[in-house]
Amino acid sequence: MRRDNWPKRTYNPAMAESIQVSLGDRAYRIHVGRGLDGLSAAVPASASKVIVTDKNVGRLYAQKISHMLNARVLTVPAGEGSKSLGQLESVFAQLLAPRDLDRQSVIVALGGGVIGDLAGFAAATLFRGVRYIQLPTTLLAMVDSSVGGKTAINHETGKNLIGAFHQPQAVWCDIAFLETLPTREYVSGLAEVIKTGVLSGSAFLAKLEQSASAIVARNDEVVTRMIADCVRFKAAVVEQDETEATGRRAMLNFGHTLGHALENLYPDRWLHGEAVAIGMVAALRLSVARVALDAAVAERVTRLLHVLGLPTEIPPELEAQAATAVMLGDKKRDGGAVGFVLLKALGEPVIQSCTIDSALLHTLMGPRDERT
Ligand code: ADP
Ligand code: ZN
Repeated sequence: MRRDNWPKRTYNPAMAESIQVSLGDRAYRIHVGRGLDGLSAAVPASASKVIVTDKNVGRLYAQKISHMLNARVLTVPAGEGSKSLGQLESVFAQLLAPRDLDRQSVIVALGGGVIGDLAGFAAATLFRGVRYIQLPTTLLAMVDSSVGGKTAINHETGKNLIGAFHQPQAVWCDIAFLETLPTREYVSGLAEVIKTGVLSGSAFLAKLEQSASAIVARNDEVVTRMIADCVRFKAAVVEQDETEATGRRAMLNFGHTLGHALENLYPDRWLHGEAVAIGMVAALRLSVARVALDAAVAERVTRLLHVLGLPTEIPPELEAQAATAVMLGDKKRDGGAVGFVLLKALGEPVIQSCTIDSALLHTLMGPRDERT
């Protein structure tokens, strides 16, 4: 394999990539690179447009994008709390009150995963569905949540319980947005990148290992290639299983079962990617125990998570009982069993239904649990 798959050079605009998501009449392109060339041409001048953004992103970028698209701006508070029925009601009020929108209008989601989910769901349901464009501004949204048309808000009984599959018209991943993204948020997004590497196979993971320092330094070309590779992988999965019907798309939940449990248990302690990183280490441990994953592979992935600055440990104070309660509350539950995405080898995920019992929790929690 070539060592230098993601060369460190001055940014070359020709590096920009455009990836097709082939979904019949719902097909669209995802642009990855620096700048938003082609964005204004992609939105019909005659359509009325509304940018939905959050306070942080809006302060930095709303004026520029609003000017570029001749769009009005609707701002919501930053954070997961905005994925609520209350906030959705307020968004609809602000969308509808000026009476300037119709079925030809376009909603522009400018922000991270929270905005993509909220604005996407509003677009899915406004007038029974209007077009929307994703301008993801976090690494997590660029590599994961903006691809594939999942939109949702949370309910007090669980995350993402109210939503719709609604594919965007186009996605622009402008890496210039990442310049203002706080380090912790950027690193959190890297967890989904590593997840993609694990699911995709050894070659992808090797690229990540070889480029680790350039990734941390946010080198333009390396980051562009890395995002494009993740988008290509996810687009292919979504093309095979758009609505998570065959199990193929469910593979993307690798590390998410325990990750979601940790997020639910301790809502303010971890960012999504951090919880998923811990969940991946647990899933790797379970994979070694249940589906004979080579322990050296588990070790290799754990090391990469660590090198890129992600947490890998389940904290000792995490109580097995509480984890059980939350895991059984997961919407994918099936009797007393939970469908875990495990790994037979790099690039070979399998879904295994695991009964939640003390042996399973013991393996998930890792060796430190033996002390308690
Ligand atoms: P995620 O994309 O991880 O699901 P959010 O949508 O909640 O998460 O975004 C994470 C945080 O980062 C929010 O506080 C948001 O306002 C902020 N943010 C998003 N994009 C940028 C950016 N490009 N620069 C600075 N802050 C940003
Ligand atoms: Zn995720």
